[in-house]
Amino acid sequence: MLTSIFLSIIANISILSTASYIFVKLIPRKKTYTLNVKQHLLMIGVSSLTSFLLMLFSVDLPKGAIIDLRHIVLILLVYYVGPTVAFPTAIFISALRLSLGVNLVSLRMAMMYVVLGCILPMVCKKLEKQFNNKYTVLLILNAICVASIALNSYFLYDNFLVYFLIYSSFLVLSSLVVILATAFIEDLLKNLALYLNEKEHAKMDFLTGLYNMRAFNKKWQRIQADKTIETTALMMIDIDYFKWINDNHGHENGNFILRQLATSLKIGAPDNELVYRVGGEEFCLILNDLPYVAQKEIAENIRSSIADKEFVLENGTSIQITVSIGLAASAQSKDMKKLFRLADRCLYMAKNQGRNKVIGELMENE
Ligand code: GH3
Ligand code: MG
Ligand code: MG
Repeated sequence: MLTSIFLSIIANISILSTASYIFVKLIPRKKTYTLNVKQHLLMIGVSSLTSFLLMLFSVDLPKGAIIDLRHIVLILLVYYVGPTVAFPTAIFISALRLSLGVNLVSLRMAMMYVVLGCILPMVCKKLEKQFNNKYTVLLILNAICVASIALNSYFLYDNFLVYFLIYSSFLVLSSLVVILATAFIEDLLKNLALYLNEKEHAKMDFLTGLYNMRAFNKKWQRIQADKTIETTALMMIDIDYFKWINDNHGHENGNFILRQLATSLKIGAPDNELVYRVGGEEFCLILNDLPYVAQKEIAENIRSSIADKEFVLENGTSIQITVSIGLAASAQSKDMKKLFRLADRCLYMAKNQGRNKVIGELMENE
């Protein structure tokens, strides 16, 4: 008897730990996200299956009552995912409980899970406002569930002491499992956050805060695969005589100017997410689905706004700089390799023709 209870508890804890791991893996690997229908269904499916497995390894009590850790699945969903997954799962848990046998106990339990599915999300919100600590919130939610389960089973016992011993042990055990599962999930989430941070940093240029060449290459591939984007143009921007600025005002001031220029480019670009620092003092801008005239106008505006702007040095004095721009556009395709080569050639011509110039070319018949 004791061995079978012990084995059931071990099985429940193992199933719950595995499910927690799978759940964290199901979370989209993005900083901000909203779950789509497929992800919702997948989470509901996994949590319902987990609940069913937990039920199969439950501890059997008199009169058909069973004890397992299904309610922990529910409270973890309420806390970490929200009611859109927690409530349907509660309904599934109820239905699955009835599938194991319909009797007074199972009917009451099924009803109880539906009620818990409705009220726990609201209680959780209130608790989160009151307590900063997630362990406290989850332990209180667990206590509410255990109290409901115990109340539901009260009529099964003639001996109050046995009843009290069973459900107080259940409260202690489930509280320990809640602490364990939360610590496990938090550790996985911390690693996920670290991974996302590193991934974001790998795309950034630290000096200017713009995206780097690596991000540019990735974006380039995505644009080529994106059927909704028909044409793309590439603007290559290079500071004129930047070496002279470095030599005369120092490297630190050079960096300071690069940062100010990055801000100006973001302001001048139609989509500030599409500005990249691809070299020391070379920048690229991607322009999607714009007529060539509009692209030339954007390039010209960027060039003139930079020529007119006062850039400040660290000692407060201001200087002026100019940029040369090569613009490569295509009327039919999004072949970025060709665009890159053409933009580079145009930039070279702009430098040759005296700098502070925009040279653009539209590839029409490739
Ligand atoms: P051009 O008009 O022909 O472009 O002349 P330039 O002097 O701008 O061109 P060049 O390619 O000869 O020099 C680029 C300079 O940019 C050389 C290097 O010292 C400077 N540079 C590259 N990266 C950085 C950086 O991160 N910070 C600073 N301060 N300077 C950089
Ligand atoms: Mg250069
Ligand atoms: Mg230069």
